[in-house]
Amino acid sequence: MEIEVQLTGSPIAEKISPPRLAAHGAWLEFRGAVRDEENGVKISGLEYEAYAEMAVREIRRLLEKLSALHPCLAAKVIHRIGIVPAGEAAIYVGIASRHRAEAIALLGEFMNGLKQAVPIWKRRALPFKSIEDDVRSLTFPGKIPETPHVISCKSLDEAMAEIRSHCQALPAVRAPLTAALGRVLREAVCAPSDIPDCDRSTRDGFAILSNGESETFFIVDKLHAADWKPRMLKSGEAVRIATGASLPCEGLRVVMQENVERNGDKIKILRREDSPNIRLRGEDVKAGATLVQTGARLDAGKLALLASAGRAQLLVSPQLRIVHFTTGDEIVPPEQTPKPGQVRDSNSILVRGLLEKFSCDLQQTHLPENFEPAKSQISSLKSQIENAYVLLVSGGASVGEKDFTRPLLEWLGFEIVFSQVNVRPGRPLIFGVNGNQIAFGLPGNPLAHFVCFHLFVAAALEKLTGGSPRQFGRGTLAVRLEDAPNPRETLWPARLAGAGLVPLKWSSSGDVTCLGEANTLIRVPANCGAIQAGAEVEFLAADF
Ligand code: AMP
Ligand code: MG
Repeated sequence: MEIEVQLTGSPIAEKISPPRLAAHGAWLEFRGAVRDEENGVKISGLEYEAYAEMAVREIRRLLEKLSALHPCLAAKVIHRIGIVPAGEAAIYVGIASRHRAEAIALLGEFMNGLKQAVPIWKRRALPFKSIEDDVRSLTFPGKIPETPHVISCKSLDEAMAEIRSHCQALPAVRAPLTAALGRVLREAVCAPSDIPDCDRSTRDGFAILSNGESETFFIVDKLHAADWKPRMLKSGEAVRIATGASLPCEGLRVVMQENVERNGDKIKILRREDSPNIRLRGEDVKAGATLVQTGARLDAGKLALLASAGRAQLLVSPQLRIVHFTTGDEIVPPEQTPKPGQVRDSNSILVRGLLEKFSCDLQQTHLPENFEPAKSQISSLKSQIENAYVLLVSGGASVGEKDFTRPLLEWLGFEIVFSQVNVRPGRPLIFGVNGNQIAFGLPGNPLAHFVCFHLFVAAALEKLTGGSPRQFGRGTLAVRLEDAPNPRETLWPARLAGAGLVPLKWSSSGDVTCLGEANTLIRVPANCGAIQAGAEVEFLAADF
């Protein structure tokens, strides 16, 4: 079958001639026009985007596949992209065949397959009035644009702002202390009583009156850590007391047992320490004071504090359900010895490790390289994907022949907010939204992955969980950062140590070696070049 496929930014001609074939019995033509209404709302047009090369290839592939079932002689497909005003054709299909029935059958199946398999999508519906302005600024008269879908390349700040504006804090849930690590506290927790709740000894020793003159004492009682035995002490009386035990009355001090000579029920003090060796009631926190602020991410220390305040159940962010797909036929598991051309999967464990901080239920799956098999594998994971708050796809985010992340996300119903960020490394970064779900297509190179996670994914997760936004800090360069001016902002892997920020060596976005050391990313402005030692720079902590 002869196949001709065109993507065009111009209106599709009113008359298209049939192919000059020696013999064909039927010439079937179909035009799909844009309607003036979408989801019950009046519109003035639709904007189509396409993954051009892949779309043309998939249309051909589809036609070839269908022609085996419905033998036809020729097919011509023209798809208009950019803005198509209502009433004008977005697609034209002409099919030549010996018998009209074959052309009809092929056309029907082709139109179905087109929606499912070909990366051409409706970018947006144009509100009823704005069509003329939109058409003026966005159509591509006379020729197909070089990049037919409008690639929206954001600056770093724009991309971060877009991400934040598309993510809303998920509803809080009640969870026990043991399930709260890594979640964000969604209520302020105050101390229910003074901490400590009574005066307690900090030493194993003997409690005596703090103003007593006596050097020898009778031991009148013994207090273990769990004892609560209030009593007044007189001059010359001592109470044997364990570390942490409650003091029997006010006005006491504790003398360490090492500084006492004991003889049966009597003790003689050899030396009094300067400190009274008592933690006073309320000395750490007074009742009612805030212990942990709302919005704090709960680490082991905060959980210990909340436990001591008796908070066994907490109002926290929900556990994040995240689905992560790796892609690429060259990727093999870490335990496998790669054959020539193969690469060990480092991104799966990188993403798993980076997500540890966030209390996630993470599902990881490797997808086959081609769009069709990838889609059928994904179909078996439908419920996982539907339930996920976040979808991450590693690799295939660029515009290479096999890069299908964008059409895959579109196919799953995500609207692409942007697909490039003007940073180095990590430019091909896709961000999409689908209702409350968000998705990231991360460039496959490990360093780009690391950078994009810290800049963008972590920012989204902070927002979803209700945590405080991640901020760039300011620090001093310990050594000179050697770089040539670059038109993109650079996130330079570095190590923050005592002496300041030490830029690490990295040769490309595939450089995994610097990940062994990197705990920060230095933000190098566009066109900046080298920065001398001692200069103050912006950096983002990347230590989880
Ligand atoms: P891509 O973004 O798919 O074009 O991949 C860019 C580079 O990242 C290629 O060299 C891939 O082999 C590499 N890459 C992709 N996925 C992974 C992964 N899971 N682990 C390590 N390297 C990867
Ligand atoms: Mg790939």
